[in-house]
Amino acid sequence: MNIAVFSAKSYDREYLGAASAAAGRHIVCFEERLTPQTAAFARGCEVVCAFVNDRLDTEVLGLLGAGGTRLIALRCAGYNNVDLAAAAALGMTVVNVPAYSPYAVAEHAVALLLTLNRRINLAYGRVSQGDFSLEGLMGFDLHGKTVGLVGTGRIGTITGRILQGFGCRVLAHDPHPPAETLAAGFTFYELDELLAQADIVSLHCPLLPATRHIINASRLARLKHGTTLINTSRGGLIDTAAALDALDSGQLGRLGLDVYENEAAFFYDDHSGAPLSDALLARLIAHPNVLLTGHQAFLTHEALTAIAETTLQSIADFAAGRPCAHALLPSS
Ligand code: NAD
Repeated sequence: MNIAVFSAKSYDREYLGAASAAAGRHIVCFEERLTPQTAAFARGCEVVCAFVNDRLDTEVLGLLGAGGTRLIALRCAGYNNVDLAAAAALGMTVVNVPAYSPYAVAEHAVALLLTLNRRINLAYGRVSQGDFSLEGLMGFDLHGKTVGLVGTGRIGTITGRILQGFGCRVLAHDPHPPAETLAAGFTFYELDELLAQADIVSLHCPLLPATRHIINASRLARLKHGTTLINTSRGGLIDTAAALDALDSGQLGRLGLDVYENEAAFFYDDHSGAPLSDALLARLIAHPNVLLTGHQAFLTHEALTAIAETTLQSIADFAAGRPCAHALLPSS
């Protein structure tokens, strides 16, 4: 069974390579993203392993199907980039890795919050140049602050528990909170009420048609003046232009992002040699109250090990004709 891996970086080659060698399977890695132009690389491969910014729409799935692909193995949790109905119509199975290390992402969300709040990025730059002044580095205690979690699945719940450890009061909004989350001591609110009460809002819900721009201009207007907003989930949850306007007015105090709604054209590649062609991304990077990382919250040893092992297990189940535990249905 041939396996084509798209968007393969050095760490993918290392971790997927080790897991596939242990499983006695051979992978072929392509650094290129999966697009209509690169889909032909997978011709003859029954399995395509894809990542968050690979294109898996009707056109690409049709090209892959014509080339013999029968399993799409996403090495990530989110699947907003896959047309599941089109895959089902082509008779393809799609699997994801629903839980690899939720701690990796939750800890990154807290890292963004702490770095933004205490201006660690600015302080590091100053100190490295011999500037030990403190003007402009004022933060606030997390202790006693109210945090609002939007989405309390695996990652949101861990983020809330970590922040409870800082002495925060944790509010949550989730239309279908998992049973175990209900024991975490969060107080559940409707979204608009949560936004009105929180000092810090952290997004942990999936990107779905219903959640696209869940944080828009009218929701930003409901925030307490100066609220800190963190998004490690998917960029499309936030109307970025509206968030930048809210930052400029001071309505939004700080914005910590690991994801950006138009990230697919930039993230995971080095664009430092040319001016950024995306005006919103350029505004985010230049804004003093924004901290942006390039969709790296998953990037820990534990997460990459679990991603590789789960992906190879799904491939083994598919090859053996067993049901795949992490198969995604069009209704997912
Ligand atoms: P999960 O499925 O365990 O939890 C998602 C929760 O969101 C569920 O409880 C669901 O009921 C809730 N939800 C759905 N619609 C909602 C809405 N309208 N408002 C509030 N909550 C809503 O998922 P998870 O493992 O916690 O992951 C959350 C998201 O994190 C994923 O969808 C993915 O996009 C993102 N993620 C990002 C990275 C990264 O590297 N930055 C890595 C992994 C996952």
